[in-house]
Amino acid sequence: MGVIQKLPPEVVNRMAAGEVLVRPSDAIKELVENSLDAKATEVAVTLRNGGMSFLQVVDNGKGISRDDLELVCERFATSKLRSFEDLLQMKTYGFRGEALASLSQVSKVAIVSKPKDQECAYSGQYSDGKMTSSKPSAGRNGTCVSATDMFYNIPSRKKSMTNSTEESSRVSDVIIRFAIHRPDVSFSLRQMSSSDFRTSGDGDFRKVVGLLLGKEISDSIQDIGMESQKLKISLHGCMARPIAAATAKLHQDKKSRQKFFSLFINGRSVTCTELKHGIDEIFSSRSLICRFMALSLKLDESRVDVNVHPTKKSVMFLEQDEVIGAIVEHIGGIVTEMFDESAMDPLN
Ligand code: ADP
Ligand code: MG
Repeated sequence: MGVIQKLPPEVVNRMAAGEVLVRPSDAIKELVENSLDAKATEVAVTLRNGGMSFLQVVDNGKGISRDDLELVCERFATSKLRSFEDLLQMKTYGFRGEALASLSQVSKVAIVSKPKDQECAYSGQYSDGKMTSSKPSAGRNGTCVSATDMFYNIPSRKKSMTNSTEESSRVSDVIIRFAIHRPDVSFSLRQMSSSDFRTSGDGDFRKVVGLLLGKEISDSIQDIGMESQKLKISLHGCMARPIAAATAKLHQDKKSRQKFFSLFINGRSVTCTELKHGIDEIFSSRSLICRFMALSLKLDESRVDVNVHPTKKSVMFLEQDEVIGAIVEHIGGIVTEMFDESAMDPLN
């Protein structure tokens, strides 16, 4: 008798969900991306216990129609991708239709939504990818997604996640990145703590940086920008004026010592270790510290593969080494120029 059996679909789905959503901040990232895809101009996040017992994202975007509520938490159900070829030209954050499905596999999900031309809002309750009930409900235009008791059915994960302060700072980090990348959208975080904030959404990028990272940083911001026809890239961004490493050590205040680096590629918040290392090297080789850098890189969509990992945090792109080399050279040039100008006063 053979010993190999196919795993039941419930087990497969729950395992896959645990990969897409490793912690509450992953859920928040997905929900915020959905809100931005829905063209929201206001995104409000509420957390209890770092998101572990409760998390909620409310937006004023285009909403989910009553007819779509039934499918919305099914795995691979999406309005953003129709064929494999569409993946080559991704213009939205979403595509795999896995976020809400995964959330409903590892928590109790409730969605209330109202597209503006629908006479009233509808709410749905979800568990394990299925809608368990739905009814007309009070609600404004837009969508509210709530998840309660994350990982209630994956005891090992729940046990390993006991530090709500750590989880809430990860969530805060995710929202800060989006808020800085999209100053035209108002983001708020509410968790009854001193780190609560709300950005105005008036498009003033410096104001957002000042609010979230401190005025000292926002006052010293310099623009970064380059284009290469050959590599088909354009880069926008900015950085705080670097300070001497020796000076940085003297700062007592934790906020002014922390380093913030954010990279968006084609609108997605991603990590790119090679680029990060290249940039770190620019500063460390000059005994400098750069406390803030936010980069937004646009690559030809057909040259990027966003489908590398379920969390969509990594991307692969063509001529990666050349692109990274060009960016590092450009930023290195700016830093050299900056310190040549003020060579008389290296601590400035
Ligand atoms: P994906 O974003 O990859 O399509 P999701 O599971 O995140 O997959 O969402 C499934 C679908 O639900 C989306 O394609 C979209 O149509 C709808 N949706 C999710 N969140 C929102 C929202 N905040 N506003 C409007 N529609 C939404
Ligand atoms: Mg999505």
